[in-house]
Amino acid sequence: MTKNQPTLRKTVSTADLYADPPPLPRHASLSRTLTRLQQRPRGISRGNPFMQPQATVSQTSLRFHNTDARDSAEDAGRRNAPTFHESHRHSVAAPYFSNLIDFDDDFGAPKEQQSPPPVPPKIPEIPTFEPKVEPTREKEGPEKYTKPFTDFMTANPTVFHAVDAVAKDLEKSGYKKLSERDSWDLKQGGKYYVERNGSSLIAFAVGEGYEAGNGAAVVAGHIDALTAKLKPIPKLRTKAGFVQLGVAPYAGALNDTWWDRDLGIGGRVLVKEHGKIVTKLVKLDWPIARIPTLAPHFGAAAMGPFNKETQMVPIIGLDNSDMGSFSGKEEAGEWKGSVLGGEGTFAATQPERLVKAISEELSIRDYSSIVNWELELFDIQPAQLGGLSKEFIFAGRIDDKLCSWAAIQALLNTSTSGSSQLKIVALFDDEEVGSLLRQGARGNFLPAVIERIVDEFADKGVRSLISRTYANSFLVSSDVIHAVNPNFLNAYLENHAPHLNIGPAVSADSNAHMTTDSVSTAVFQHCVDRDMGVRKQDPKLQVFQIRNDSRSGGTVGPMLSAATGIRAIDCGIPQLSMHSIRATTGSLDPGLGVFAFQSFLENFESVDAEFKA
Ligand SMILES: [Zn+2]
Repeated sequence: MTKNQPTLRKTVSTADLYADPPPLPRHASLSRTLTRLQQRPRGISRGNPFMQPQATVSQTSLRFHNTDARDSAEDAGRRNAPTFHESHRHSVAAPYFSNLIDFDDDFGAPKEQQSPPPVPPKIPEIPTFEPKVEPTREKEGPEKYTKPFTDFMTANPTVFHAVDAVAKDLEKSGYKKLSERDSWDLKQGGKYYVERNGSSLIAFAVGEGYEAGNGAAVVAGHIDALTAKLKPIPKLRTKAGFVQLGVAPYAGALNDTWWDRDLGIGGRVLVKEHGKIVTKLVKLDWPIARIPTLAPHFGAAAMGPFNKETQMVPIIGLDNSDMGSFSGKEEAGEWKGSVLGGEGTFAATQPERLVKAISEELSIRDYSSIVNWELELFDIQPAQLGGLSKEFIFAGRIDDKLCSWAAIQALLNTSTSGSSQLKIVALFDDEEVGSLLRQGARGNFLPAVIERIVDEFADKGVRSLISRTYANSFLVSSDVIHAVNPNFLNAYLENHAPHLNIGPAVSADSNAHMTTDSVSTAVFQHCVDRDMGVRKQDPKLQVFQIRNDSRSGGTVGPMLSAATGIRAIDCGIPQLSMHSIRATTGSLDPGLGVFAFQSFLENFESVDAEFKA
């Protein structure tokens, strides 16, 4: 057990599903918390930015009154059972968790001593909104989304497959495909999507009461993932009887987790058909390639570090025609040219057996009709549930198909009626390599789409209407974030270590690698709070920040908000083993992500009214 574990458990601001029964409350009852917050009207802007202002605390508490959720939460034994059906509530609103939250640490001692109010505190009369009552919507639980997510992950290993699957989901729900090449004819109440490069996608729904200049609720993430891409000419000389494939890492792939995995090949193929060049997606999802480790018995040679160019070359078959020539040195066989497709064709530059396998999969008879392709290796192991009670999801490429998928499901759950805003979900390629391509978030994709929408609905003054749109909008930059790893608690910051199956985590960074600030946190928290009790399990917002002696990763948030001026927050779903070929998230986390993003998309318009002077 590590040194800081008890402290971490005490101070972590989330319900701990798997913890031992907590000790008796030490201090900091809700009444005391309220006193402190009342003394410090600017409380939300100092200390912990993730605390709600006093008014919100009161509203939240009031709204719990007379609800089933409160009764069940008050069950003293609830934290002993690893159940997924309990109602989680938001941090400050939960006196039951007061022993888990050390307010002294966050706020310091008040300047003037004040007598504590009676317990429970007299809640002042404040304006409040009614809890959302939607008799037509059955209370849904996050588990509803678990299998659809794992199915999506298994079926869509490449960025092209993932974008295509999202597009099909959108079309099933009435979203119309638009092309950037053509003029658009948009209508109030309409739902649309646009793709760029087949690897990024923006979907948007126009509120029935939308007018140019109104705001947009935007969720943006990245749908690319670490992978190993086939080189332009991946054919290699046969070596010691092995047929190998030339691949190059995309972002941090070919790291140590890529050894000894069963790898398939997939991507997109350009084929000439009837005088047109068409794109076809292909997926050879049996274990074709493998990067074999060297057994530890070989001593120093097996120790690493390893060369990604020479020692992590996948094997894809055997060709022992050079048997007998192996001398133990780095000798390569003869270069064998291919005649498939004929001289000068693309197919002739590619490994023969790969050309045949792809052609068979796509029913291509004439190899010369293959114009080009972009293929990559992917771990073929399906996304699976894990853990004694199936509380985990084990899958490849969770970063960041997880938030991308959840954001799209959230959008599909929303309606355009009663809305005078835009609801947008933007999924970008190339985040893992810096986003600086036209399909990346540093490109003009999102501004171009928003500006075209405004232009469609504007009569005059388009430029100022665009500026007003950005000023009235809000962006949730949703990228997966590090869940706490029980074996490395020292690597995490106290109070900032998200748990699985609790809810998304708001990510902050003091050096602007994240967009989160106190205002954006308050906006997003209000959106989520408004739906408390609407579902079987509320998504409880958690907090992540990296330690001062580590370095934060980046997201699409800063570049998008800087380019447009849109207010923004970084909030993503927790996962373990980021950038591993095989990662872990909670089985309820996809659904909890859907809930949080949907609450934002649906509630931002009314919440934002509170923030407008
Ligand atoms: Zn990511």
